[in-house]
Amino acid sequence: MAKVYYNGDANQQYFNNKKVAVIGYGSQGHAHAQNLRDSGVEVVIGLREGKSWNSAVNDGFAVYNVREAAGQADVIMILLPDERQTKVYNEEIAPVLRPGQALMFAHGFNVHFNQIVAPQDVDVLLVAPKGPGHLVRRTFEQGAGVPALFAIHQDVTGDARELALAYAYGIGSLRAGGLETTFKEETETDLFGEQAVLCGGLTSLVKAGFETLTEAGYQPELAYFECLHELKLIVDLMYEGGLEGMRYSISDTAQWGDFVSGPRVVNEEVKKEMKRVLTDIQQGQFAKGWILENQANRPVFNAINESEKEHPIEKVGRELRAMMPFVNQKQAQKKEVAAL
Ligand code: NDP
Ligand code: MG
Ligand code: MG
Repeated sequence: MAKVYYNGDANQQYFNNKKVAVIGYGSQGHAHAQNLRDSGVEVVIGLREGKSWNSAVNDGFAVYNVREAAGQADVIMILLPDERQTKVYNEEIAPVLRPGQALMFAHGFNVHFNQIVAPQDVDVLLVAPKGPGHLVRRTFEQGAGVPALFAIHQDVTGDARELALAYAYGIGSLRAGGLETTFKEETETDLFGEQAVLCGGLTSLVKAGFETLTEAGYQPELAYFECLHELKLIVDLMYEGGLEGMRYSISDTAQWGDFVSGPRVVNEEVKKEMKRVLTDIQQGQFAKGWILENQANRPVFNAINESEKEHPIEKVGRELRAMMPFVNQKQAQKKEVAAL
């Protein structure tokens, strides 16, 4: 088994007399900044003026433009959307980089696909939590953490590994476990996971199930509960106890159906297609397409995004969730506040 790193493996004094600039205050940015601060690390935020700037100020952070934040820090963690990082790096970070600074990422995309090429005299590393930013913050507050991968691309100071572990400790990830990897492995597995299983695979599976039931004349409300709403329970059980833990809780009829029909749905053909998806990622085809799509201002992305919102499962889902305010705590709180 690979070595998994925990709290005891980090130098908890590493950040004494060091300053971290967190660039971006979105999903990952707010969580890293707040967790590091709670771990005693001095943090400044780098942003442009706007929504995130205001929330970072409201949360009590010193906020600067990207250039000023990067210039004053020892460690620069870039938590901007991947497709914006190259421009911001070239225009606002590269000009102020000093020898011995550390440039950090939470995903290897831009370094691995050569969109960001750092100078030879800075450390380049990543700490990538394996979960959305809001969970990185929520679990930290609960005394737990989201596991993270870390990788060293460039180590000129000789301290890059110590920094990676101290950073992973600071955001709470070493409570759950840190695993060492490479930029290549992190990037390719992250893209594959979100495309084939977590996001792409799952949304397509849910829609196909919903369409199969509704096209056969069953009620869309029922199909929504069956193919989407109930997923949460199943995923929670898998998160807690793996496939076995989930199967322990379902009926034997459900488990028999799982065994005999699951492999008919996700069959050898599907797996062959998954391999082709992985090949596109490994050979840079996916990255190239996504970079070009952004350069053209996202015509295909925006068109699909709009048509997806009109899918019948989304329409019926919006109506049903409106009657279950408890499923979305954030919306529920907003409504309570609005009602006051
Ligand atoms: P978000 O889209 O949530 O946040 C982006 C932040 O960058 C916002 O605060 C935004 O501020 C700011 N920003 C955007 N453009 C600029 C600019 N030109 N100048 C200054 N600030 C800007 O990003 P994520 O947190 O999702 O992603 C950050 C990184 O973390 C990515 O590398 C991603 O791959 C990685 N990651 C993300 C995960 C996730 O679950 N989201 C999981 C693991 C890794 P504004 O309000 O002004 O737009
Ligand atoms: Mg991921
Ligand atoms: Mg990703």
